[in-house]
Amino acid sequence: AYEYKRKPEWLKTKLTVNENFREIKKMMRGKTLHTVCEEAKCPNIHECWAVHRTATFMILGDICTRACRFCAVKTGLPTELDRQEPERVAEAVEQMGLKHTVITSVARDDLKDGGASIFAETIKAVRKRNPQTNVEVLIPDFQGNWDALKTVMDARPDVLNHNLETVRRRSDRVRSKAKYERSLELLKRAKELQPDIPTKSSIMIGVGEEWDEILETMDDLRGVDCNIMTIGQYLQPTKKHLKLEKYYTPQEFAELKKEGMKRGFDHVESGPLVRSSYHAHEQVAAAKGT
Ligand code: SF4
Ligand code: SF4
Repeated sequence: AYEYKRKPEWLKTKLTVNENFREIKKMMRGKTLHTVCEEAKCPNIHECWAVHRTATFMILGDICTRACRFCAVKTGLPTELDRQEPERVAEAVEQMGLKHTVITSVARDDLKDGGASIFAETIKAVRKRNPQTNVEVLIPDFQGNWDALKTVMDARPDVLNHNLETVRRRSDRVRSKAKYERSLELLKRAKELQPDIPTKSSIMIGVGEEWDEILETMDDLRGVDCNIMTIGQYLQPTKKHLKLEKYYTPQEFAELKKEGMKRGFDHVESGPLVRSSYHAHEQVAAAKGT
């Protein structure tokens, strides 16, 4: 039988809605744009939007060609390909007054370049209107299409982010179609293409990994010169999704941060509520040495 593990205290967040947040939310309602912040019901949304001025946009539609077992995004055959989207994202970034933005997408295995050209156009459009805003891209693996990766790197994002999601042994079970080795190769090639652009990767823990496997993942990431790592608690979106195996304590997350810093990452963000884009602005500052 399915047992719902009780949520520990440290995962319960208080809602602090302030004026800024209400305004931004109202403005977003009028736009045909998807944010991960809203769609994933991210617990950090108030802090990110209103205080840190960070948001994560999901381009290329909200239907994914893959079906990872931890993810709440709909699976299907996407139809959306909107050439105006980069400009709309750029406008929203301006109106929200964002200092840092993360651009991500579903996996568009139906497109030849996996959507890389739209990523590149979005980076350029956001830059043009918002020269002060940091632009991080969180990209899918483009099925190992390295020309597509080059298209994105040529547009020079401030950070290139690609998630490993989990440790090597759990990879095939947790992710759909993605491969641990291929993701490492992507990070390695990104660094070779543009050595001065920081690379970043995230995992979620609590999906059946062992402690030593988390450390091994750190070593693998450092082996491809990855600069930033984030580690967060997996939370099961619904009963049908991948089973939550364990809640890590804040102390364990702090210990993992230490282990990561020891291995030479420029920045490790590790905590129960950490999401890939959480405190993204500080991570960039660390990686750039500012
Ligand atoms: Fe959005 Fe990421 Fe912040 Fe969550 S952590 S609100 S997804 S920017
Ligand atoms: Fe979700 Fe990304 Fe997996 Fe698609 S590829 S199911 S969006 S995690």
